[in-house]
Amino acid sequence: MHQLYVERYEPKKYIQWKADKTTKFEINYEFYLHIFNSKFNLSFGKPKMDVCNTCDKFKNQIDVAENPEEKSRLNREHSLHLAKAQKFYDDLNQLSKKAKTDETVDVISFDYQQNLPVPVLPIVEGEKGANETVSFLKHYVDSVINPSVKTLYIFTDNCVGQNKNMVVVQMLSALVATGRFNIIYHRFPERGHSFLPCDRKFALEKEKRKVTYLYLPEEWYSKVARTSQTFLVVNILPKMIRDFRSYFQPFFKKTIKNFTITKYKTFKYEEKKITVSACHNIDTLNRTFIAFKPNADLIALKEWTVPQLYITKLPVNPKKLQNLRELLDFIPLAYHGFYVSLETQDGGEQQQGESETEASDSSDE
Ligand SMILES: [Zn+2]
Repeated sequence: MHQLYVERYEPKKYIQWKADKTTKFEINYEFYLHIFNSKFNLSFGKPKMDVCNTCDKFKNQIDVAENPEEKSRLNREHSLHLAKAQKFYDDLNQLSKKAKTDETVDVISFDYQQNLPVPVLPIVEGEKGANETVSFLKHYVDSVINPSVKTLYIFTDNCVGQNKNMVVVQMLSALVATGRFNIIYHRFPERGHSFLPCDRKFALEKEKRKVTYLYLPEEWYSKVARTSQTFLVVNILPKMIRDFRSYFQPFFKKTIKNFTITKYKTFKYEEKKITVSACHNIDTLNRTFIAFKPNADLIALKEWTVPQLYITKLPVNPKKLQNLRELLDFIPLAYHGFYVSLETQDGGEQQQGESETEASDSSDE
């Protein structure tokens, strides 16, 4: 990296140095290293702490409230908010215990891990959208969940781009309507209180700090697997990611009248029906609708002939690719194949057209 730095900022000296290897740079390697290590915070974001805007607001209001009645009203409201947040986790724990002894019940939760950098720069090689989420979910249902499971509980965060969207609703509705499950419950936590069991960020951070050299994505697999005994690391192949969004179109209504998905915390799928509730108890504040078109052909739906989403390798942003190629000097020759095989949109090293598909990452936290 120092070489890349002097090539750009001290080009004349760099050319001299290439010829004689003795020319001194204005910014020598040791100084560069010192600045790099001490002035740049290039480690990865702090793990998310327990911060909730609603809780903060309550705390501030309670602090300044002078009227004792007002104070106790605020205290009650805040307690209610915390109780709701807790209900999600109490249910998750209780149902997880039940799943251990009842083979017709299973509980899953899922979330995306952070991107892991290869080799030094973070490259976004995969999207994390609704199609990816339901593709992984379908893969998991087909290959991991015991066929005896008829009641499935799903706990995820509120991320609209990934977990809380119509493609997920359609997938869960389809899994029940086609007979794979009798009932599916999908539960979302209170805003600001979403810490799911699959969230092993701390353990992964620890593994990351141990890494000095790492050149291929495959090298992360064992490290990620090591962060939890219950982790199953699956190498994602392009053929595993399917275009469910298009596949579902002939079967499902385009829109559901007066239905704002973000308002709801509990979703229950039974036969062709979907019941949604704005709280953690499905029996209150609920409404029921059918997402299928009236003439939807469930026999055809059950065939699951879903087109592959990416026919070619997912392109890497051209600028990132160029950065990566510049780093090749620092990567052992044996690993070059992976970097050379990466492609941009046009398969070339074009500078233009930065068009990473919007991952619509609109988490509400
Ligand atoms: Zn809160």
